[in-house]
Amino acid sequence: MTSKTDAAVKVPLADLQREYAQIEGPVLAKIREILVSGRFVLGAEVEAFECEWSGYLGVKHAVGVANGTDALVLTLKALGIGPGDEVITAANTFVATAEAIAQVGARPVLADVTPDTYTTDVAQVEHLITARTRAIIPVHLYGQPADMAPLLELVERHGLTVIEDAAQAHGATYRGHKVGSLGQAAGFSFYPAKNLGAYGDAGIVATNDDQIAQSVRRLRNHGGVERHQHDMVGQNSRLDELQAGILRVKLPYLDAWNERRWQHARTYDRLLSATPGIAVPQTGPERTHVYHQYVIRVDRSRRDALRTHLQRWWIETGIHYPRPVHLTAAFAHLGSGPRGFPVAEALAASIVSLPMYPQLTPEQLTHVARQIAAFVEDRAGETRGEQG
Ligand SMILES: *Cc1c(COP(=O)(O)O)cnc(C)c1O
Repeated sequence: MTSKTDAAVKVPLADLQREYAQIEGPVLAKIREILVSGRFVLGAEVEAFECEWSGYLGVKHAVGVANGTDALVLTLKALGIGPGDEVITAANTFVATAEAIAQVGARPVLADVTPDTYTTDVAQVEHLITARTRAIIPVHLYGQPADMAPLLELVERHGLTVIEDAAQAHGATYRGHKVGSLGQAAGFSFYPAKNLGAYGDAGIVATNDDQIAQSVRRLRNHGGVERHQHDMVGQNSRLDELQAGILRVKLPYLDAWNERRWQHARTYDRLLSATPGIAVPQTGPERTHVYHQYVIRVDRSRRDALRTHLQRWWIETGIHYPRPVHLTAAFAHLGSGPRGFPVAEALAASIVSLPMYPQLTPEQLTHVARQIAAFVEDRAGETRGEQG
């Protein structure tokens, strides 16, 4: 049954305006301070944020760059990975992970994901290692850490490097350690919609490795740390002061915001677990999930109808992602190999991302769950009707 209040509740997929309203004062003060300072690129704010972010993760270095994709590209370059090399990553990820590998001239080699956690299937990775393999980029998808222990053991045995794609998992932990501190290096994105987001593009490389940090510092700024010093062919991938300043204002909220996401996930779990035909997301052992996305699964034949039904009730949903990497036009040439990627393909056809952000209200969460249940009940009625 639909109550009168339901009609009034709108639930967008993201709501950055409500977040901004909460922090407007300190953000405007910071922006003003930076504009008055007259320093806009790679200054005190960037340096301070690099310190605060490396401290938050528990790593030695953080190097601010223009965006999360560049964080991966510059790390690959710093490691000397390029043409002739292979880098293994997940078939179900945002396209940027594969793109970064292709950008440096290396070949992305895809591994399927596990059906329970949707993260990189380490058992498959082992079969994909060749003499050309240089690195592995596990993706902490939707905010859940990939299973890092067996992966780190594997790379150790084969003398490879792990670069974490931590763009969706700010603050998530694996065996008590923050993602971004687990591999040799990690790339974070601070795109506005991420768990920690700037008000424009921003990214960072995190690492305990002095060499990688030093190379990324040069690569991001035309090949040198000092003006008119060009030790190598670099590029322009600098972080600007305004974005770094805004990130410094927001960082103290990150843990509380992640906690809210976690609580909302528990509410969704509780409200949805009794709904037939809906699979709620699972978290693997020894890790914390920061729910960048809360992704349910529904039978593929009913997925689009569910989304249409929710849209009718002002509930926005997303698909992350409609196509696994090997089914995009850009990466079709990678093929799917003899085994294919059955899990990634099944996920792409059955996943639905529900609204998930700290500012969701109990009323909104209930509205979403109730409308999913209403859809399921309605369809059950139709089926009974057909049979009878
Ligand atoms: C957002 C994202 C990126 C890229 O970050 P940008 O800042 O948009 O370049 C890379 N990998 C994953 C998994 C992401 O979600």
